[in-house]
Amino acid sequence: MIPTKAYAAPSATQPLGPFQFERREPGPHDVQIDIQYCGICHSDIHQIRDEWGGSIFPMVPGHEITGVVRKVGSQVKNYQVGDRVGVGCFVDSCRECDSCREGLEQYCDTGMVGTYNSREKNGTPTYGGYSNHIVVDEQYVLRIPEKLPLDQAAPLLCAGITTYSPLRHWNAGPGKKVAVIGLGGLGHMAVKIAHAMGAEVTVLSQSLKKKADGARLGADHFHATSDPKTFKELSGTFDLILNTVSVELDWNQYLNLLRRDGTMVVLGVPTKAPNVHAFSLIGGRRSLAGSLIGGIKETQEMLDFCAKHGIASDIETINIDQVNAAYERMLTGEVRYRFVIDIRSLGN
Ligand code: NAP
Ligand code: ZN
Ligand code: ZN
Repeated sequence: MIPTKAYAAPSATQPLGPFQFERREPGPHDVQIDIQYCGICHSDIHQIRDEWGGSIFPMVPGHEITGVVRKVGSQVKNYQVGDRVGVGCFVDSCRECDSCREGLEQYCDTGMVGTYNSREKNGTPTYGGYSNHIVVDEQYVLRIPEKLPLDQAAPLLCAGITTYSPLRHWNAGPGKKVAVIGLGGLGHMAVKIAHAMGAEVTVLSQSLKKKADGARLGADHFHATSDPKTFKELSGTFDLILNTVSVELDWNQYLNLLRRDGTMVVLGVPTKAPNVHAFSLIGGRRSLAGSLIGGIKETQEMLDFCAKHGIASDIETINIDQVNAAYERMLTGEVRYRFVIDIRSLGN
């Protein structure tokens, strides 16, 4: 067994603190990774606070993991000691259902095995990337292109793929008007990626405080949702809206910003379900959709796309003992635009 240092939350109401546990020795198909960086996703906060129900404690969060391969099992084909790798939101799935066969493991019929707050097929709880090692089957490991620094690449493993996948699925590109609601971790990646795909990008943020950042990230337009004029002026404008907000909004107001046949894709996971009026959809034949992270194949495609276009996350690096304070700063919208934990601060 591999002694592992981590930070964990003992319960939904206690802060994270030091925690030790053991990972399995790498099996024939496993890769053992020395974790160097782990991004902080808003989903970490939702799950630590048990906002979605069913949380498993103690919880070691973290699903935006980058590091270097330390050891490989005897049958591992694609990775060698020293390779730069990443792990995202899941570490296993059934491998047999239609979704798994099509490389859409996140929609596995029997449910993917989450990187944390989940259970391996044998029932062992999974622990995430706020830890110094992880052992993962090579099929669920990603290769980080040389051009991407490991710290700025970490948030791509969730925020990057969660926005890349719907942008690809709904054909963001030249001639398409894309709006992004919320300029946070997911939102800032959505802006960069949609811009790189050639779409005309609009940010819908609570205020104009981040306007200069929006332009720097690649947005063509920036509007404050606190200004009622925004909803009048932009009525019927967008082909695609990505909603990255983690709290309940009036979706009807935003659906009205879609042009005919436009789609709003829900990415944020508020705890309460907003009411949607039929008129918001039937007028203009609009669609309301959702999207969950992305499969392994598409995550690799996204990493290669980001390397090609020189895109990575805008990060603020912290030590592990600052993680509770970082959560508070995320909740007040102070992060620009992703906290990344330097895992070396855990010690060896
Ligand atoms: P984040 O960094 O905290 O960003 C959320 C953004 O939402 C904020 O920066 C803010 O942008 C906006 N916002 C916050 N409070 C708001 C309010 N009261 N009213 C309106 N806008 C508000 O979070 P994140 O890591 O990007 O995650 C966002 C959500 O996506 C979370 O619910 C997370 O669980 C979910 N998520 C889903 C998936 C998936 O697969 N679908 C994957 C990862 C995360 P402005 O300041 O610009 O308004
Ligand atoms: Zn996430
Ligand atoms: Zn499956």
